[in-house]
Amino acid sequence: MTDQLEAPAIDGSSNETTQILIVDDDAHIRKALTILLKIPGCETLEAEDGLEALQIMESRPGIPLVISDIMMPNIDGLELCRRLKSDDTTRDVYFIMLTAKEGVKERVQGLEIGADDYVQKPFDSHELRARVKAGLRIVGLQDELKTKNRILHQLSITDGLTGAYNHSYFQRAFEKEFERARRYGRDLSLLVCDIDNFKGFNDTYGHGTGDEVLTNVARIVRSITRDSDIVARYGGEEFAVLIPETPLETAYQVADKIRRAIAESPLVLEDSRLDITISIGAACFSGTNFGSRTTFFNSADSALYKAKHEGKNRVVCV
Ligand code: GH3
Ligand code: MG
Ligand code: MG
Repeated sequence: MTDQLEAPAIDGSSNETTQILIVDDDAHIRKALTILLKIPGCETLEAEDGLEALQIMESRPGIPLVISDIMMPNIDGLELCRRLKSDDTTRDVYFIMLTAKEGVKERVQGLEIGADDYVQKPFDSHELRARVKAGLRIVGLQDELKTKNRILHQLSITDGLTGAYNHSYFQRAFEKEFERARRYGRDLSLLVCDIDNFKGFNDTYGHGTGDEVLTNVARIVRSITRDSDIVARYGGEEFAVLIPETPLETAYQVADKIRRAIAESPLVLEDSRLDITISIGAACFSGTNFGSRTTFFNSADSALYKAKHEGKNRVVCV
């Protein structure tokens, strides 16, 4: 999970350099802008037309601000703006048009296709710098918002105690993976895991220790499974693991590896040692053998029930 909360460099306060792309077919104007835009923490790049600008934007992703002339050969400023704003990877680029005083029509057109601001030629150096800095501030705020949204999204799908996915994320992933397996006839394995005698840990050592047991178990399950597998806390002391593209025999091996690893990792307290074990029910959907997600899940759950019934600390396959 990302915990990066910092905004990008817009005022030289961070080590990262912010790049500004200057686009103009007039070398003198490019030079003048390069000198003017010597802002701490910023670096300028130059392109002599829209075509070169697009090549630079593609080869150096992450340029947050473009200041561009309108009338240029090959691809002009309006077309450059249109293309940047219609591409998902560059739509948030802050686009400043450099327009002639009498260029009202271009300005209106540019703003309509997504340009963020304009500066009239001949430009006043103070105004131009101020507008670029304002643009960079907006870009910084946008980035901050995006980072916070990412963090919020991550929180909304994560179980706060164990760091595993939560129940509602599991349901969505399960639906998606089940449909994919059904459509393409692929194997999708499912493990339903339940810590043995967990209530006893709570009752004897307190809920804090119970929580520690849960966290340890989740850590072990996640360390054994792959990033492409989905490990979720299904309920109190139950975890569900979705293992896409995997037949039952392999899923059994994964489950037994989890079982053994947990049995071999006691929780050591100051004056006692908690031996933890887990029971696991495993099932595999191969595209047709279960009519619905519910029957698939229930069959793994029944296998878990059987594992409990047969003495716990074991894996039972459907
Ligand atoms: P079995 O071996 O048959 O699975 O028995 P068990 O004791 O593990 O299962 P049972 O369902 O009887 O008890 C589960 C307990 O888990 C009851 C509940 O209070 C506890 N629990 C649920 N969520 C949490 C939690 O977030 N933290 C802690 N510490 N305990 C929890
Ligand atoms: Mg239990
Ligand atoms: Mg239970």
